[in-house]
Amino acid sequence: MTDALVLGGGLAGVAAAQTLGEAGIRTTLVDRTDYHQFQPLLYQVATSQLPAEDVARPLRTIFADVPSVDVVLAHVTSASLADRTLVLDDGRSLSADHLVLAAGARPNFFGIPGAQEHAFPLYSVVDAERLRLHHQALVAEALVGDTGSRDVVVVGGGPTGVEVSGALAELVAALQAQGRMPADARVHLVDRGQAVLGQFSTRAQAYAHKHLDKAGVDIRLGAGVKEVHVDAVDLDDGTRLPTRTVIWAGGESASAIAQSAGSSTGRGGRIDVRPDLGVEGYPGVWAVGDVANIPSGAGAPTLPQLGSVAQQSGRWAAQNILRSMQGDELAPFHYKDKGIMAMIGRNAAVAEVGAHRHEVDGPIAFAAWLGVHAMLLSGVHSRTDAFLSWAWDYFERDHAATVESHDAPRRIAWGDDADDVPHIDLGAPAHG
Ligand SMILES: Cc1cc2nc3c(=O)[nH]c(=O)nc-3n(C[C@H](O)[C@H](O)[C@H](O)COP(=O)(O)OP(=O)(O)OC[C@H]3O[C@@H](n4cnc5c(N)ncnc54)[C@H](O)[C@@H]3O)c2cc1C
Repeated sequence: MTDALVLGGGLAGVAAAQTLGEAGIRTTLVDRTDYHQFQPLLYQVATSQLPAEDVARPLRTIFADVPSVDVVLAHVTSASLADRTLVLDDGRSLSADHLVLAAGARPNFFGIPGAQEHAFPLYSVVDAERLRLHHQALVAEALVGDTGSRDVVVVGGGPTGVEVSGALAELVAALQAQGRMPADARVHLVDRGQAVLGQFSTRAQAYAHKHLDKAGVDIRLGAGVKEVHVDAVDLDDGTRLPTRTVIWAGGESASAIAQSAGSSTGRGGRIDVRPDLGVEGYPGVWAVGDVANIPSGAGAPTLPQLGSVAQQSGRWAAQNILRSMQGDELAPFHYKDKGIMAMIGRNAAVAEVGAHRHEVDGPIAFAAWLGVHAMLLSGVHSRTDAFLSWAWDYFERDHAATVESHDAPRRIAWGDDADDVPHIDLGAPAHG
């Protein structure tokens, strides 16, 4: 028998289970992968700058020192909120007094023809590794005479689209310098809006635009994707871009389990929660992180899908569970806003720091990015110093001159034992 059930081992679920487990609450965490995946570093995996194993960590290792947390590897096929029960794909059902839904999000293709079939989403380690292998195969085929397009089209000019475009442009340029990529291969970034990084200040937008442009990215604003084919993308302005690599950073919605749970949902199919993170009408049920629509105040928009929101809300829901177990009053979630930031390439980053959005760019913005991400990672790794050392090197080093064989990217020196390495099954479904 368990006192609390947590669905999802992302930043939100891990924070919730850790807080509960450290308070001695018998907690079961269920995830369909046996590892936690750190999404902010996925594009480094996709662009061959980090091996997939470096951004994933076995959940059992994370909870090795927290004996009251039990990790179950299973796909949850349905959730009954009324009796706080999860049904697993192996036929088992798990119930508890408290159920924390932390199942994250999945790519949203908005019904655009061909997008689901031909585009590469970037939401999981499996996605990132599939994209890397696809790109690597195209590079290899170019060397033996294949003349098909090597262009990459990135859909969506938010932080993920901008970051992956910047990193890919550097990779393409470096491969071209080595003669391993045709000279005309390009990265295109497509967005319906009038600026990249729509939620940032106009100064940050201009900075990002300038750096992407300088890196050789073809930025197409005010254009949406009409259809994705196996070898081209059609835009709604009539343009056809020949490509075999479309990267989908164009939007996401809540995971399937959230949409079938039966509670009230809002933007992106996310579960509506009260300010205390409980789900109205379902005592003992909580929703946190990307799967939840978390209010930020009367009349204000809900909180964004960010690592800090996920980690803090997971911890807060667990603290409210502890309060309710002790008969104390629940507390409304108070988000400590770290700001928003994006890395555009080596030596180029923008950040709007803290709730007051203090604008910085360049190395200072990168330092802010580093601080926030080290804090996020500290929930799953004790060696944040290894991350800091890798990241400074990554930011400052001349990419084109050094990295390009990519058979052995510089690793984060986590110092994990061999049995701490996650098992990443590329055949497994990456989302749902
Ligand atoms: C490419 C990318 C880059 C990002 N970069 C940044 C950044 O730089 N800074 C930042 O702050 N934020 C960033 N974000 C956002 C941030 O990573 C997310 O907001 C945060 O990780 C969400 O955490 P979560 O725990 O809610 O969900 P997730 O991390 O998605 O975890 C959900 C877990 O639930 C499991 N799960 C789902 N459904 C089931 C099921 N049916 N059965 C069993 N298990 C299930 C999944 O396997 C997964 O492990 C980025 C996101 C992406 C995709």
